[in-house]
Amino acid sequence: MSIKNKKNILITGSSQGIGLAIAKHFAKDFSVYVTGRYSDKLEKLCRENNFKGFVCADLSLSNGAESLFESLNENIDILINNAGNYIYSPVEKLEYEDITSSFMLNSISQLKLIKQVVPYMKSQKWGRIINIGSISGVMGEANASLYSMTKASLIGMTKALALELAQDNITVNVINPGWVDTELINNDDLEQDFSRNEIIETIPQRRFVTPEEIASTCEYLISDNAKSVTGQSINICAGLSLGY
Ligand code: NAD
Repeated sequence: MSIKNKKNILITGSSQGIGLAIAKHFAKDFSVYVTGRYSDKLEKLCRENNFKGFVCADLSLSNGAESLFESLNENIDILINNAGNYIYSPVEKLEYEDITSSFMLNSISQLKLIKQVVPYMKSQKWGRIINIGSISGVMGEANASLYSMTKASLIGMTKALALELAQDNITVNVINPGWVDTELINNDDLEQDFSRNEIIETIPQRRFVTPEEIASTCEYLISDNAKSVTGQSINICAGLSLGY
């Protein structure tokens, strides 16, 4: 089965940043469905980039993943769980609401969406699932305990599901980006502690990872060349995981 016969690909959090870069990367060869929270923005992106469709849903809400999938009403061959937020805060200042909504957005909604797409993938005996984690889920990051916890959970989930779905020809992997220059890191709390230059000084290659590098890794992971790559946690981080 060729992977370029306009398979349906769903990319969550694709109104900007890494998700939008992935959506643009696949727009020519796949039927791309994008998601976010604001319909005006998504409608415009679909028109400009020839995406197949869009769905609005707030994935931090307890019924967000279910409502996204109900509105989509399409069979999905490739799921890229990319939506996420970054909370930078000392542990004692974390609010209970931040903990529950961040966990819903960064961890639980991923599992719920996988639950929705797996029956069709099993029926086709083909599927690709990619979770976008973070290097913060691999390494410790001070003042990011909540974020690190949610992203670390994706690594465990990925390994378990890869085993569970191995005989259905469905691969499951997690990409852990290092610092990528997107809206996500324009975070007031982070900027109080670190300037951009100070962040770059902590990165061994002294540069941000680009969203396109993450998109290219996704392209590899859904290709036939990567059919044996499953359950893997792949760090695309400009050396950040190696220490200083
Ligand atoms: P971004 O803020 O530019 O984009 C985030 C996307 O998620 C947007 O499309 C947004 O609409 C969507 N989103 C946010 N909250 C949502 C909600 N409540 N419901 C539905 N959608 C929501 O961020 P990005 O840098 O492109 O991040 C994409 C992914 O990459 C995230 O999972 C993030 O944790 C991860 N990541 C980013 C970096 C980085 O340095 N930028 C590093 C490691 C991992």
